Amino acid sequence: MDCLFCKIIAGEIPSTKIYEDDKILAFRDINPQAPAHILVIPKEHIGGVDELNSENVAIVSHIFAKIAEIAKNEGLEKGYRVVSNVGEHGCQSVRHLHFHILGGSQLNGSMV
Ligand code: AMP
Repeated sequence: MDCLFCKIIAGEIPSTKIYEDDKILAFRDINPQAPAHILVIPKEHIGGVDELNSENVAIVSHIFAKIAEIAKNEGLEKGYRVVSNVGEHGCQSVRHLHFHILGGSQLNGSMV
């Protein structure tokens, strides 16, 4: 499968890792949209939120538990945003489920 994030998980493409365990990886976004911009992904290939189902959704609770830890470690006590773009209308550019953590400064109040 030709998936950029699967190649990052496999170590075929370098990344700046923040956190890793047997199920997930967190790394810095190559094109940061905020002072802190981290991506959290499952190691299992899931295309996006639209491919979640009762069989694979448990990974999302693990990801969110770690997002809280990662944000604390990054010093984002004043807050942050968690975003997952889905499909064409959601402007998803990498078809591997990922959650953006954005913070480190006051974010725009607009969601779109
Ligand atoms: P999305 O547009 O929501 O699918 O987000 C994909 C994100 O992956 C974008 O914010 C990109 O900047 C980021 N990205 C693409 N290639 C890399 C890479 N090699 N390392 C880190 N982040 C990347």
